Amino acid sequence: MKVNLLDLDLDGMAAFCERLGEKRFRSVQLFRWIHQKGARQFDEMSDLAKSLREKLPAVCHINDLSVLSRQDSVDGTIKWLFDVGGGNAVETVFIPEADRGTLCISSQAGCAVGCRFCSTGHQGFSRNLTTGEILAQLWHAEHFLRKHLSSRERVITNVVMMGMGEPLQNHAALFPALRVMLDDHGYGMSRRRVTVSTSGVVPMMDRLASECPVALAVSLHAPNDALRDSLVPLNRKYPIAELLDACLRYLPAAPRDFITFEYCMLDGVNDQIEHAQQLLDLVRTHRGKGVPCKINLIPFNPFPDSGLKCSPKPVVARFAQILVDAGVVTTVRKTRGDDIDAACGQLAGDVLDRTNASQRLARLRSETGQPIRIVHRERQA
Ligand code: SF4
Repeated sequence: MKVNLLDLDLDGMAAFCERLGEKRFRSVQLFRWIHQKGARQFDEMSDLAKSLREKLPAVCHINDLSVLSRQDSVDGTIKWLFDVGGGNAVETVFIPEADRGTLCISSQAGCAVGCRFCSTGHQGFSRNLTTGEILAQLWHAEHFLRKHLSSRERVITNVVMMGMGEPLQNHAALFPALRVMLDDHGYGMSRRRVTVSTSGVVPMMDRLASECPVALAVSLHAPNDALRDSLVPLNRKYPIAELLDACLRYLPAAPRDFITFEYCMLDGVNDQIEHAQQLLDLVRTHRGKGVPCKINLIPFNPFPDSGLKCSPKPVVARFAQILVDAGVVTTVRKTRGDDIDAACGQLAGDVLDRTNASQRLARLRSETGQPIRIVHRERQA
């Protein structure tokens, strides 16, 4: 079977070259051609020996994902729907802002965590994405944007693993992908500009700290175990105290001196004054010293069968004010790309409407004649 070169970090590429009888510097050349120059064909790689260029197509390929659709928002947000085979598709969203361009990437087709407020969780788990499928989202977006946007500046400055799936339940594929994002011969991104979001897979938070420490966002969503058990089922395995202990262990390795806590605002569920006060107690007094953090409040976007509603704006504002008054840095997620259903629970505080997804699914089926299951980024965290 041919090797997909998007599956390899630089060490993997070196091992691959070694198996072909090539020197290590060839792996750097290949890496740069693929990730920095966006080469799709080996005959484009002009500084590779001709004999190697001729040898490569028989043993490897650069496996881009098929684009099922691309939608451009009036606010500049771009959303891709990628086919990942087996009837599954995942979405990737680019969100431009004045001072940055953020790409939100999916790590799994579906999600096994099953958070109550997350449509992806309701859809169940299909499979882990491979390293190549995670990286292909960045590779495709990076080179598309370079080609189509006028700016000569780098357009993707930040990556957030906040698309569909729990990234740390797919750590075997995630970690090499992160290494490629950080590698100077790959995308050369700063650790501060790559964020992994987790619902609290405690052992893998420790592994992330030791193997590839990037910025960390934790989907908290509740200030006590009883409530979090009901919203984020993983809490029954790794309750809040263990999760916050893992955050404290993570901080010495982290590129930032705080953890971001994501908190989805659910009407009458977790948005009351006592919840804000419990949250403050947690982050200020855990183990006697608290957890340095920033709190990101995400207005919930309802989807059918969730049985949940978004907190009214004044309630979100009141909750935020309690945190701010206590000196905790707090933001309320803005909505982007609504006109293309690209607003993201993590990034923008808005989520895809499942009704729209069903309509799009029906349309795609009729257009492609294929059964396609859209597994889309409706996660709130
Ligand atoms: S919120 Fe995140 S961890 Fe929870 S079900 Fe959705 S994708 Fe999975």
